[in-house]
Amino acid sequence: MRNFELYVPTKIIFGKGEIKKLTTEVPKDKKILLLYGGGSIKKNGIYVQVTEALKDHEVIEFSGIEANPEYTTLLKALEIIKNEDIGYMLAVGGGSVIDGTKFLSSAALYKGDNPWDILAKRIRTFEGLPFGTVLTLPATGSEMNSGAVVSRSETNQKMVMGGPGLFPQFSICDPTVVHSIPKRQLANGVADAYTHVLEQYMTYPADAPLQDRFSEGILQTLIEIAPEIIKDPSNYKAASNFMWCCTMALNGYIQKGVPTDWSVHMIAHELTAFYGIDHARTLAVILPSAYTKKFEQKKEKLAQYAERIFNISEGTTEEKAKNAIQKTEEFFQSLGIETKLSAYTDDYDGFSQKVAKNLKDHGMTALGEHQDITPEVAAEIVEMAY
Ligand code: NAP
Ligand code: FE
Repeated sequence: MRNFELYVPTKIIFGKGEIKKLTTEVPKDKKILLLYGGGSIKKNGIYVQVTEALKDHEVIEFSGIEANPEYTTLLKALEIIKNEDIGYMLAVGGGSVIDGTKFLSSAALYKGDNPWDILAKRIRTFEGLPFGTVLTLPATGSEMNSGAVVSRSETNQKMVMGGPGLFPQFSICDPTVVHSIPKRQLANGVADAYTHVLEQYMTYPADAPLQDRFSEGILQTLIEIAPEIIKDPSNYKAASNFMWCCTMALNGYIQKGVPTDWSVHMIAHELTAFYGIDHARTLAVILPSAYTKKFEQKKEKLAQYAERIFNISEGTTEEKAKNAIQKTEEFFQSLGIETKLSAYTDDYDGFSQKVAKNLKDHGMTALGEHQDITPEVAAEIVEMAY
């Protein structure tokens, strides 16, 4: 196992009816900015619970943070934070609203002239404006980590940021919010969390059997609950386990002591940047070809995954590993997610070269656990996914 430090200061408040605890978790001596998305919270009863809990707080609202939060939208919220002397933020939403709030947390205290530099120059955030979250969509793990992804559609960019100053102070995870999530987003949530685990697991053996089994436990649970949650999102057993799987998949725990990949995410972000394809679906497109391209380096872990997750005991290491990639693709398809780029767009001529250029421009020239995925290799992976 590798050396590691683990610092995850977010308090998780998990369970049915816990949104009311906002009353005591959100400070009363500060002006609060309540941030949310396109309005789903007004239809499913979450907004009412939040505003009821905050009725004695001084709250200003900012709505309209879109899926794949847009830099230009966030700048409008930043202006409110500065003009209104906001001292605390509450994000109520999925990964997009929470990530947008993380950007604002950083930008509010940023001393430079241009907040875009936080993303473009990958400036880490050590101190941010404090915030808490109410999670409405299990998927990203953003409720318990310090990373964020922000988009700028005018320039086809989708960039990551982070730093120890960007952990939510608390996140309320009430699984009953899952009941109103559309099937497409439920499928996305499962696929995103599943891929988060694989990014931290599908590398090479690292003498960390507990980490492997944590990861395998999340993968198995996601496979088990996926059909249940898609069939009936008000099934509390399925919803609560779905929610906890998504948080555990990317809260820092399973990545400790082991090598991590993350190339699937970094390449897949370009598919959202250029075509607006849902984040989870871009992962399902890129993952099979990334693992096929890196087969020699990943085959031992792929074979272990084949044995432990899909009960494949017959065949050589290579045969099991190949079978595992196939089974993973079939799992995404079982969620109703297409795994080829051509299913989403027919305008992909020359796209792989645009990806290579964007990765190069952003300094992402050495991706993967061996840091040997150059922009040229990434372009080949994209072409294999057409
Ligand atoms: P999302 O973009 O936050 O939300 C997707 C849609 O689901 C929105 O239209 C939203 O509607 C709706 N929705 C949310 N909760 C709902 C509910 N309870 N009932 C009904 N509809 C609901 O989806 P996401 O997958 O959580 O986030 C994706 C973003 O996170 C991407 O930008 C991705 O790159 C990023 N990401 C971040 C991390 C990280 O660690 N920070 C990791 C992976 C991905 P409303 O807008 O109307 O609320
Ligand atoms: Fe993701």
